[in-house]
Amino acid sequence: MTIYQNLIAGEWVGSDATKNINPSNTNEVVGLYADGSTEDTKNAIAAAKAAFPAWSRSGIWERHVILKKAGDEIMARKDELGALLAREEGKTLPEAIGETIRASQIFEFFAGEALRLAGEVVPSVRPNIGVEITRDPLGVIGIITPWNFPIAIPAWKIAPALCYGNTVVFKPAELVPGCSWAIVDILHRAGLPKGVLNLVMGKGSVVGQAMLDSPDVTGITFTGSTGTGRRVAAASIEHNRKFQLEMGGKNPMVVLDDADLTVAVEAAANSGFFSTGQRCTASSRLIVTEGIHDKFVAALTEKLNMLVVDDAMKPGTHIGPVVDEKQLKTDTDYIEIGRKEGAKLAFGGELITRETPGFYLQPTLFTEATNQMRISREEIFGPVVSVIRVKDYDEALATANDTPFGLSAGIATTSLKHATHFKRNSEAGMVMVNLPTAGVDFHVPFGGRKASSYGPREQGKYAAEFYTSVKTAYTLA
Ligand code: ADP
Repeated sequence: MTIYQNLIAGEWVGSDATKNINPSNTNEVVGLYADGSTEDTKNAIAAAKAAFPAWSRSGIWERHVILKKAGDEIMARKDELGALLAREEGKTLPEAIGETIRASQIFEFFAGEALRLAGEVVPSVRPNIGVEITRDPLGVIGIITPWNFPIAIPAWKIAPALCYGNTVVFKPAELVPGCSWAIVDILHRAGLPKGVLNLVMGKGSVVGQAMLDSPDVTGITFTGSTGTGRRVAAASIEHNRKFQLEMGGKNPMVVLDDADLTVAVEAAANSGFFSTGQRCTASSRLIVTEGIHDKFVAALTEKLNMLVVDDAMKPGTHIGPVVDEKQLKTDTDYIEIGRKEGAKLAFGGELITRETPGFYLQPTLFTEATNQMRISREEIFGPVVSVIRVKDYDEALATANDTPFGLSAGIATTSLKHATHFKRNSEAGMVMVNLPTAGVDFHVPFGGRKASSYGPREQGKYAAEFYTSVKTAYTLA
């Protein structure tokens, strides 16, 4: 089997490899991918550092052309890359193709942004002086990504990093190197100069750690668990390095008595269970007022009963497998914790067998949960959702905000008054009205508050806040 190698200083290198396994069928090896070492990471950082002076001064048309070419190729290959994504991560093929399209759109967006780089010229408060405010690239950006969006998250970090003139060392998650390798290959062939984008696949504790430890990495953008995020933060402060973290969520969706039941059930089923509940923006707490509670639970349970859990590649599958054995154990452990805490298992909770060996778990719904239970406070990252019954809107809002996290929050209501109040008073970075808490646009800011995020927002024009450093220049006229 071919080994997909690391890209360091413009060369494909590496002979040690690990297997990329399909979670829908653990007998299937998706590919062999290089397992990078500390030495590889140091070489990649040195290459990115060496490439920075020229790339930071490269023309905006060159950057535009490369990013545009990458976006076009990803779009042209959306079915093939979508299938690779579905096979390595386990989300359904339509979801995987949708994510691939989004990655293409992100490259298109930043190809356009490269042509719109601009600063400000402002008058000084002193006579005969001009002031210019411009943005410089940061330098070498370390990109560390998780497994749940194998193509979109790498795209939304790599595209702005390159657009604003930075060089990159990119480390994808161990479980999903395939899509990352593919987009690096695409960008490399699109004409990036040597060393501008380096790919080091391998373990977080080896490759990721070597990035954290290097004084030559000027910025780190990280999406992953809260624990690793804290390590990134601590190591970055040590090196006086800019960093940006996207971590967990325990996203609430409030359902009020006046909600349209169909809209509420669709939004809850989608954001709680699609992509196997493995989205950082998934709703894992459904906070439901008394008057609609029983009707809502009955309709949601009926909906869950119709969802097909099976191989991600099979037509008709709504929910693919859990990503791996470790995550499946986390999910089943939390199901046990929920039972012991006294929540009522209203649906699911069992492992399922299918034609092929895979990590299949029923969508799982707890009712009679309280907001103080561990299943309502800790991120599970699986298709496990709790329903919390509340008296009225005020209690719903207070419960929604009573969490260590603050990524996304939703409300299902036909009341303009409550929708408006919720948008203003939710303590989340993203708020959805009559929509799933997951599923966002690629051209507007993404990010959260409290323990969910740290640093500037990602995506859209706001991405410039992280990937550049502002300079104010004064000139005597
Ligand atoms: P998850 O539970 O989603 O896998 P992690 O935080 O462990 O979350 O992983 C997110 C990313 O962080 C992955 O690419 C992983 O390899 C990387 N990572 C894990 N440990 C470290 C570390 N010590 N230093 C840097 N990166 C790490």
